[in-house]
Amino acid sequence: MDYNEFFDGALNQLHDERRYRVFADLERIAGRFPFATWHTPKGERSVVMWCSNDYLGMGQHPKVVGAMIETATRTGTGAGGTRNIAGNNHSLIQLEHELADLHGKEAALVFTSGYVSNQTGISTLAKLIPNCLILSDALNHNSMIEGIRQSGCERIVFRHNDMAHLEELLRTHRGRPTLIVCESLYSMDGDIAPLGKVCDLAEKYGAMTYVDEVHAVGMYGPRGAGISERDGVMHRIDILEGTLAKAFGCLGGYIAGKSNVVDAIRSHAPGFIFTTALPPAVCSAATAAIRHLKTSQWERTRQQDRAARVKAILIAAGIPVMSSDTHIVPVFVGDPELCKKASDLLLEQHGIYIQPINYPTVPKGTERLRITPSPYHEDALIDELAAAMVSVWERLGLRLNEKSLAAE
Ligand code: PMP
Repeated sequence: MDYNEFFDGALNQLHDERRYRVFADLERIAGRFPFATWHTPKGERSVVMWCSNDYLGMGQHPKVVGAMIETATRTGTGAGGTRNIAGNNHSLIQLEHELADLHGKEAALVFTSGYVSNQTGISTLAKLIPNCLILSDALNHNSMIEGIRQSGCERIVFRHNDMAHLEELLRTHRGRPTLIVCESLYSMDGDIAPLGKVCDLAEKYGAMTYVDEVHAVGMYGPRGAGISERDGVMHRIDILEGTLAKAFGCLGGYIAGKSNVVDAIRSHAPGFIFTTALPPAVCSAATAAIRHLKTSQWERTRQQDRAARVKAILIAAGIPVMSSDTHIVPVFVGDPELCKKASDLLLEQHGIYIQPINYPTVPKGTERLRITPSPYHEDALIDELAAAMVSVWERLGLRLNEKSLAAE
């Protein structure tokens, strides 16, 4: 049997569909976020990152870097085992206290990534509820979909953010144990779920709620606890899930909720039990980032200001910015090959790094560049971005909108 055939075939299909992914060899420059060094065969080049999910640059914040170095120096690098066998560490316990406090919940549990939190958290939770029905938003992230699949429970998808559809399903299945699973902020479109409505419906029909706040923690709410905090509904959501890898600039994921729910997941979730715990240094760094963002408004406010400026300037230049209510600025391309070419030209000709977003991350025909401004993108960088994008759009024959005077 020729096994190569299978793998070559799978890769060729991606090439044929023009969505084979290539990594740029980049290295962020310490203390100079959002600048990075691009390693090319011809040598090194400084570029500006416009697509980092380290939204607030906390991965380079002196308090966060300092906490990581101090803890690594004191305790070493790895955790040395699973949580149940040798891998538990003081920094992890402190981090879980910090997270429970952030979300106003009785307990929190840390996983090795946000992906794992969703996958093992949702599947375990749903399995523990007999005859559980899962109602899942149509645009939920792959990690949630995988968690739902693994639970083996019946799942019905409701139209994205469509509360009438959600209510119809809840009404039809009234009396059955139900878990509503959604995100608070959808990262590819930058839109927000009506969490107050989700809670109203959950309470009316006796359903449990699981909300992924991965793109919102650190970013929204007076203490950075997310959209649920901003909207005053945090206490009404049963399980909040977040990441330590985006606004908090580190690595890891977590859930927060009532202590019996969290303890049941801790005691049953294979993705928690059978894997090595996060290193203490990572936990200390995350704790430092969370603590900082609980009180400092500067990063959030400045990031929102930068995002608004990027949107206004790109729209004024005729770039097809998709509507977004949040800190994310998606720009429509609508073709995988052109999207990749636009990204390549931005990097090669203009020293601007924005990865193309293609299927399956977004539906076919909606390929886009997803721009994530940070507090550290100064006006001059924004002007350079707009000029570079216009030049690339013209070169590729992509459609520019009527120029607007909005930002002039
Ligand atoms: N949930 C959502 C909505 C995500 O977009 C992502 C990753 N981009 C995750 C969960 C996984 O988080 P992590 O990167 O921490 O694994």
